[in-house]
Parts: sequence; C-alpha cells; structure tokens
Amino acid sequence: MPIYEFKCLSCGHEFEKIVKLNETPNCPDCDSGEVEKQVSFSAAVSTSKTRSKSFQKARARTNSIKKEKDHADAEYKRKYYEDHR
Ligand SMILES: [Zn+2]
Repeated sequence: MPIYEFKCLSCGHEFEKIVKLNETPNCPDCDSGEVEKQVSFSAAVSTSKTRSKSFQKARARTNSIKKEKDHADAEYKRKYYEDHR
C-alpha cells in the first residue's frame, strides 16, 4: 500500500499515512476529517529524471554498440580488400 502525505486543513498539521486508495484519514493532531492529500512533486520529478537518465544511458549504449559494429564492419571490409588485392 502506498504512503500518502496529508495536510490538515484545520490545524495545518502535515503527516504521512498508509491508506487504501481514496481513503482519507483524520488528522492525528486534532482529529479533523478536513485533510488534503498532498501530491509529492519531489518524488515525481526525481522519478522522471531517473527515467530519462536511464533512457539516455540506454540510447548511448545503443549508439556505442552501433559504432562498434560499424567499426567492425569497416575493419572487416578493409581486411577483405587487403587479402584480396
Ligand atoms: Zn489537524
């Protein structure tokens, strides 16, 4: 189950709680039901950053593999022509 961040609209207390989807807990401080689920922007940003970073890494790896393959092809051709001169 995910941990959600909540902010009490009554007393401003911020707390984290493991809740079922769409379940809203009461404030542990003042027991008010007026709590707001917080969207964790930092988590979302770091996730997408990590994702694009690993994507770039994967793309760089693919490029280097392609380069190596091109290089190997060129090398092969060069050897072939040398052997068959
Ligand atoms: Zn409260």
